[in-house]
Amino acid sequence: MQVFKFGGSSVGTPERIQEIASWFPDAVGKQQCGGVVFSAFQGVTDQLISMAERAGAGDDSYTTDLGSMEGRHIDAIRKMLPSSQQSQAIAGVKFLLNDLEDILQGVYLVKELTPRSMDFITSFGEQLSNYIIHLVFRHHGIDCDYLDARTVIVTDDQFGNAEVDMDATLQNIRNHYKNRDNRLQVITGFIAATETGVTTTLGRGGSDYTASIFAAALEAEELQIWTDVDGVLTSDPRVVKEAFTMDVLSYEEAMELSHFGAKVIHPPTIEPAMSREIPIRIKNTMNPSFPGTVIGKMESKQEHIIKGISSIDNVALIRVQGSGLVGMAGVAQRIFGALAAGRINIILITQASSEHSVCLAVMPKDAAKAKKLLEKELRHELSIRKVADIIVEKDLSIIAVVGENMRNTPGIAGKIFQALGRSRINISAIAQGSSELNISAVIQQRDKAKALRVIHDAFFYGPRKTANIYVFGAGLIGGQLLNDIRDKQDWFLTSRHLDLRVNGIMNSKKLLLDEDGIELGGWEKKLASTRKQADPGALLEFVKKNQSPNTIIVDATADEAIVEWYDAFLKQGVAVVTPNKKANTNDWEQYRRLSDLARDNDTQFLYETNVGAGLPFVEAVKQRVASGDEIHRIEGVFSGTLSYLFNKFDGSKPFSELVRVARENGYTEPDPRDDLNGMDAARKLLILARTQGKALSLDDIEVENLVPEELRGDMDPDTFLEKLKVYDEAFEQRLDQAKKEGKLLRYLAILDDGTPRVRLEAVDSGHPVSGLEGSENMLNITTDAYSETPLVIKGPGAGPVVTANGVLNDILKTIK
Ligand code: ADP
Ligand code: ASP
Ligand code: MG
Repeated sequence: MQVFKFGGSSVGTPERIQEIASWFPDAVGKQQCGGVVFSAFQGVTDQLISMAERAGAGDDSYTTDLGSMEGRHIDAIRKMLPSSQQSQAIAGVKFLLNDLEDILQGVYLVKELTPRSMDFITSFGEQLSNYIIHLVFRHHGIDCDYLDARTVIVTDDQFGNAEVDMDATLQNIRNHYKNRDNRLQVITGFIAATETGVTTTLGRGGSDYTASIFAAALEAEELQIWTDVDGVLTSDPRVVKEAFTMDVLSYEEAMELSHFGAKVIHPPTIEPAMSREIPIRIKNTMNPSFPGTVIGKMESKQEHIIKGISSIDNVALIRVQGSGLVGMAGVAQRIFGALAAGRINIILITQASSEHSVCLAVMPKDAAKAKKLLEKELRHELSIRKVADIIVEKDLSIIAVVGENMRNTPGIAGKIFQALGRSRINISAIAQGSSELNISAVIQQRDKAKALRVIHDAFFYGPRKTANIYVFGAGLIGGQLLNDIRDKQDWFLTSRHLDLRVNGIMNSKKLLLDEDGIELGGWEKKLASTRKQADPGALLEFVKKNQSPNTIIVDATADEAIVEWYDAFLKQGVAVVTPNKKANTNDWEQYRRLSDLARDNDTQFLYETNVGAGLPFVEAVKQRVASGDEIHRIEGVFSGTLSYLFNKFDGSKPFSELVRVARENGYTEPDPRDDLNGMDAARKLLILARTQGKALSLDDIEVENLVPEELRGDMDPDTFLEKLKVYDEAFEQRLDQAKKEGKLLRYLAILDDGTPRVRLEAVDSGHPVSGLEGSENMLNITTDAYSETPLVIKGPGAGPVVTANGVLNDILKTIK
């Protein structure tokens, strides 16, 4: 014997119901099915509640809903039953709806909605659905009866959440079956009645419980709960996209998960099945061949330390604090006693070991009442200030991490709190059940989604990680980076277990955001056609809301505007990666602050591509510093343009001519004086010096400006090139002089004991820079360890491809 239950999500449309009716006999197979419990059609219970509330408030708009509700149910009949059977079925539905109309009208007239009327009103959802579905089943040749559960399930009169008299109920059910030769019953979920026949309900989601009660009464071999997901997942799939199905789960684990908010199973459902060792199988109506999750007694095989993470929203925390609590025996008991007397459900309790405070989490609807009860109970202590305060905090969520394997496994709490801490999520209270099956934390509700994701990531994707990237600037470098990520995403996922997602792109006009990651094919078009205007503040807010452990912003712009936002992102624990030199060449304090913020917020500020594009110049300096290898001299060629000019300058062509050709080929800035003035090289030297820890600023660097003094004023580039001819001879002379000494001219940046400087130098032909070609860059570092010959890095120091690659490398370095 088996018992099945289909939730509202499984019976949302007539098509779904017909599908179920067609495969139901196969799903039952050779075994027998004694009962199939259905919920109300999806959304109907919510609609009934809203109608009742409006009627109670004297708002007659409920009648419109009554019409649409009738329409929906009659439409279902027309779609699923042959015309010959329709009029009788419709009459049945109308009969029920007349009763519903009467009670709603009564509520409307007296303008009073009691919990008792509410239960009666909501009971119509299940009555209507089961009445129709039993006819559809029969039409499909399934022999069955309609069973109104109110005739068998007996409860007390706690309307809205009635308690079942289990002995009487089980007996009633058994008697009922005896009279029907165990024929299949189509059973209304959720609803029940008191001993005197007043309608009650078993709490929202209570159809699961109805099914479990029937399974217990029939000593079923299995209880199958059919819903709209593949089973019990590791977390709520609406919040954690990566959540996956668990094969097996112990009763205790299922109980903890459902008590702490996993909606897929209604908490009281477990007990009746558990006490008779009836396995509960959760299956997906939309994917019937998938095995789903089995909840049972079995020792579950465990791949992961934890089973799942669930959460409850809208909790309030009540904090009773004061020195008087210390050593005051029996206070806890009085607190709980007072709340129990007021029928207030306590979700979680913690007490600091100093006994200075006791924290209780309750549902917000109970918070005010709980506070009052406690004030009354502790009035004496309050009056003599032994209890200083009773404080209520609202808008909180509880996160619960559940799993049998957590018992006796050290370090789990640490892992949870580390994951939360890294994402800047503040914890208001912590509790661990003594069974060690559950660790719960109370946090701000606004942090809930983030918290679930980071904990999920920490436990299930040890090896797999997700990076969420936001790119400012979609020009040459930003664009190349986005294309690279687009092309390599699959490779990273399969070979590196790294899910690289771009969640945001902003250029000077538009802002494109997607919490699941932008599908990067055709990102240009998506960015151009999005409605959102460029707005770094909006991007920051979005990042805060969706933050994961590895959130990175890339500033691929060349201006100051985004730099101002670095602080805010770093404070949020978001890594900043930038090819933009602006932030690092302003005052030293700014550089220092960004580095400090990164350190204090457990994140990173990386700018490798500021110097030498993708070449690891910054990294090389950092490594020397980190290993305690004292640096004596940093020397290099950091300007690609100047490198190119002096590699070419051999006397065969005048210097001005070389500059003109370089400009035509796009090797210089639009105004070549921006290269010749040496400032670019000076800025890069400054950045390396700061990386080494030297508190320098740009003014401290001696710069040889190759633009002759007379040519520095306002002048268009063509005029400049024309006038530069006058100086060709002077450049020629320097070249000749160098040649005479067997040397070469190179524009060098030097950091040693003397003044940091950038200038044109004559170097020996054996010097490492003599081997440079084209626009290559080079860095030579002389240190204690590299004293005889320097550490040398050389290669192309500019261009979107290598720069974007360097940015990507920085992104990868930030990933924890
Ligand atoms: P039904 O109408 O079948 O009773 P419910 O909406 O009550 O369905 O419960 C199923 C829903 O529970 C799923 O659609 C899912 O969004 C939600 N849910 C929350 N937590 C979990 C979890 N840990 N595993 C599976 N589903 C969950
Ligand atoms: N229809 C009820 C509800 O929506 C019971 C259930 O679906 O389990 O809460
Ligand atoms: Mg449900």
